[in-house]
Amino acid sequence: MPRTAPKPAAPDPTLAPGTHESDVVIVGCGVAGLYAALNLPRSLRVTMICKEDVESCDSMLAQGGICVMRDHDDYDSWFDDTMRAGHFENRAESVDTMIWSSREVINDLIRMGVSFDHAPGGDLDYTREGAHSRPRILHHADLTGAEITLRLLEQACRLPNVTIYEHVTMDDLVVEKSECLGVRARLADGGRVTLLARDTILATGGIGGTYERSTNYACLTGDGCRVAEAHGVALEHMDYVQIHPTSLYSERPGRAFLISESCRGEGAILINAAGERFVDELLPRDVVSKAIFAEMEREGSRYVRLSFENVPERTITIHFRNIFEHCLEEGYDIRREPIPVVPAQHYLMGGIHVDQNSRTTMEHLYAAGETSCNGVHGKNRLASNSLLESLVFARLAARDIVRRRHHELCDA
Ligand SMILES: Cc1cc2nc3c(=O)[nH]c(=O)nc-3n(C[C@H](O)[C@H](O)[C@H](O)COP(=O)(O)OP(=O)(O)OC[C@H]3O[C@@H](n4cnc5c(N)ncnc54)[C@H](O)[C@@H]3O)c2cc1C
Repeated sequence: MPRTAPKPAAPDPTLAPGTHESDVVIVGCGVAGLYAALNLPRSLRVTMICKEDVESCDSMLAQGGICVMRDHDDYDSWFDDTMRAGHFENRAESVDTMIWSSREVINDLIRMGVSFDHAPGGDLDYTREGAHSRPRILHHADLTGAEITLRLLEQACRLPNVTIYEHVTMDDLVVEKSECLGVRARLADGGRVTLLARDTILATGGIGGTYERSTNYACLTGDGCRVAEAHGVALEHMDYVQIHPTSLYSERPGRAFLISESCRGEGAILINAAGERFVDELLPRDVVSKAIFAEMEREGSRYVRLSFENVPERTITIHFRNIFEHCLEEGYDIRREPIPVVPAQHYLMGGIHVDQNSRTTMEHLYAAGETSCNGVHGKNRLASNSLLESLVFARLAARDIVRRRHHELCDA
């Protein structure tokens, strides 16, 4: 079985400077943008843009996996885990929506060709990460995000009503009488475009590019939040930023390589310079990060270490193949030695405030994915909830656009 999804042919249309019209403009081609496009009717002309190439998005980097409600008995414990990790600042109705929609969205992904790993008995393989009281995370080795994103991209590239333009950077909204009419953007050669649309969805991802040490792509600089705020659109909890406990320590500049939380879920332990454990590795991310910073300060060290001594070799080389190979390239064989790890900026829980239909406070402007704040994550995101939350609320945006058009047609 291939371990990485084959890549679909990259989109290559070019956009001429000037003004272009479509029905829906989607800014961002990660899972949120793509799934919104796939949930719009084929009768609507959809224009999608992204800042660099389509693969330069955090969705491609997700390692650990995507949560799903295994059975109805799982509802309460998943709800509690999410609320507890979020310090009970989550919007309960959003958490409820995400959990109840999870099985349907996963089935839809499988229908679109996404492959998740199976346990030896043939059932889907559910793994566990920190702060989850049960294993409920589906994965494709440790390349889950790439598998999902590339399959969605493949589907979107087949749609005649969807056109994807790469290297187009949105830098403003078109606003008239407090309504969003589209976006303004810059082409790679400096040319300007105005993309007008009845509805606009911002799916511009996170803010890691503004940090010195982050697991995110450097091109993700919170542009959606910035342009929205400039037009008076409400933002929420922009200070709720998640620091992931374990990125691979490196002196080299550039994106920090993530060591997935599922490694700790499968038994990897954190140790200090003396080889002693100093924290329960399965506590929520913010708690573990704080404990690591405290230990680093106490020791005067630049990192702590993560040991895989309790993780079976087969799990390392198969489930964590990507991490295993990356560490080998960096000179560490995780089967034999602990690796240096340090916390890094990872995720924005806040963002553009949206309601239960992913509407922002501006007419005809929607937001989905990491740039939005629908309240699912509260003050601290539970591992593997964000791919799912992005998909669920992107689909709600698409459905709301369709519903409103339908009502307008009926009223006309
Ligand atoms: C290393 C890593 C591992 C992760 N692992 C997991 C995991 O296991 N499970 C999980 O649930 N979550 C995980 N996450 C989080 C998850 O991947 C992201 O939250 C999610 O993919 C966000 O999707 P998105 O569509 O909102 O944004 P992205 O996938 O980041 O896409 C953003 C898009 O916006 C475009 N864009 C940005 N600004 C502009 C602009 N000005 N103009 C035009 N386009 C623009 C970008 O080009 C890009 O196409 C991980 C994140 C990282 C970084």
